[in-house]
Amino acid sequence: AVEIRDLHKYFGDNEVLKGIDFTVEPGQVVCVIGPSGSGKSTLLRCVNMLEVPTKGQVFINGAELTDPDADIDAARRHVGMVFQQFNLFPHLTALQNVMIAQQRVLGRGKNEAEIIARENLNKVGVAEKCDAYPGQLSGGQQQRVAIARALAMNPDLMLFDEPTSALDPELVGDVLTVMRKLAEEGMTMLVVTHEMGFAREVADRVVFMDGGVIVEDGEPSKVIGNPSHERTRTFLHRVL
Ligand code: ATP
Ligand code: MG
Repeated sequence: AVEIRDLHKYFGDNEVLKGIDFTVEPGQVVCVIGPSGSGKSTLLRCVNMLEVPTKGQVFINGAELTDPDADIDAARRHVGMVFQQFNLFPHLTALQNVMIAQQRVLGRGKNEAEIIARENLNKVGVAEKCDAYPGQLSGGQQQRVAIARALAMNPDLMLFDEPTSALDPELVGDVLTVMRKLAEEGMTMLVVTHEMGFAREVADRVVFMDGGVIVEDGEPSKVIGNPSHERTRTFLHRVL
């Protein structure tokens, strides 16, 4: 589970997160939506301490990451992150991209890492691309390799920051299918997305952020289907 309590983040004197509270229970999928600049990426980056919160607390599986004595590296090992830009190593094949962190971070041997890499590449539907380099793959294939790389670390939690926003429209569906499958398998997921269809169908909760605060947090049928706040309605009119 993820628990965020009264999270604030300043960049200089710009307060980008102004007191965020929410929880993602084990097995839940929570989608975060909101306009550009509302703080969605910053929030996600604070969850695994890629950004250090100015104030407030982040707990993952009960361990406080914001505790000054916390072992951040150990906590991060349980968290997979997938970005808009796939961030694969260009000089490594798909298979090597999925193996390397397993070997370096988890200390798995080469054979074990390779078996797990192949399983996960198979799971995301790119098994036949094991030996291809990122430059030889479509955006959708690269993103699925990036998901396989995260899954190979056996995360309890997956963070996705607009995983389909850099993709050509015809490739978006393949990536969403993989994410939907993960959700069905019970993965805990926090997903920043503009894909309202995905949010509506897959999310247990949708969080609408604007101006560094959570304006609305509830079931998709409520937040997307029948929002209570004018700011949410205005945003949805623009994206739907
Ligand atoms: P988008 O939908 O465009 O991705 P977002 O909701 O993810 O937007 P953030 O990237 O979290 O928004 O940015 C929120 C605000 O914080 C913006 O005003 C941005 O300029 C600022 N910001 C983000 N990262 C930094 C940084 N490293 N240094 C300074 N300001 C930053
Ligand atoms: Mg962002």
